[in-house]
Amino acid sequence: MMEGRVTKPCPLCRRPSDITPYGQRDAFEIVCAKCGHFVLTRRMFSLIEGLSEEDRKLLPYLSAHTRQSSEAGTIAEIHSENWKELARARAATPVSMKLGMALQWCGRSSPHGGAKVIVDFDLTAPLFDAVSEDEAWYLADNLVKAGYLETLGGDPRVCIVTPAGWAKLQPSSRGGVPGRCFVAMSFDPSVKDAFDQGIRPAIEEDCKLSAVRVDLVEHNEKICDRIVAEINRAEFVVADFTLHRAGVYFEVGYAQGLGRPVIWTCRKDELGKTHFDTRQYNHIDWETPAELRRRLGDRIRATILK
Ligand SMILES: [Zn+2]
Repeated sequence: MMEGRVTKPCPLCRRPSDITPYGQRDAFEIVCAKCGHFVLTRRMFSLIEGLSEEDRKLLPYLSAHTRQSSEAGTIAEIHSENWKELARARAATPVSMKLGMALQWCGRSSPHGGAKVIVDFDLTAPLFDAVSEDEAWYLADNLVKAGYLETLGGDPRVCIVTPAGWAKLQPSSRGGVPGRCFVAMSFDPSVKDAFDQGIRPAIEEDCKLSAVRVDLVEHNEKICDRIVAEINRAEFVVADFTLHRAGVYFEVGYAQGLGRPVIWTCRKDELGKTHFDTRQYNHIDWETPAELRRRLGDRIRATILK
């Protein structure tokens, strides 16, 4: 079907994208300016071709998931079993939250106060969980009406964050970007489900916050600048100690030094193997990813969102 790298319409948004066979698996790696960098199984590829009109309406929300994962440093893997749930979670984002996401993006895109932000509504829509270019336009237009953005010549494609907008964007009293969570954990395939079905949906779908993870190859485990920068930007940290990756201990120590709250989790059978005595930290000791998702969501609501 596809040999080597080819430029083809992105299966999610139809823009020209780079598509490469993915490793030994029956999947493709896709790089699209709108949907980001993600992996799609061959089965999902053909499933998209035959989607009903109704299901097709979910694709922009799937783009929102892949693009935001990609911007947060994770390559999302989309297959026939998970796509609908991922898309529906984004489709459920309230408009009030999309307005906040759009304003946060404008703030992140301003290198300094008064900087002009050029907004391409089609390309940025997935970053705001917006279904279309029109919805992204609506969000920006209403941020202007609310006084958080100001346009140059009345066109929200070129805007500036106002002082009221910056005040709204102020970091929380804990520091970091409000709603941004750094996830410290092992990247071993045996705990992949703990992230995909436990930690990520608890943070993003149940609490509507964003989860950032920096994937590191285990044999090259040095603390890179990117990790330090991401912990600085995070409002809080979720640390899973299953498999006891040494980097997790460093990341937690660094986050605590900055005063960021840390939520400690560990698979029950691994709890006794901690490198240091961390029992005083009240770990969420989980047995299944579903249990982790439920208890982590509860803990975030009780401690971070309270
Ligand atoms: Zn795309």
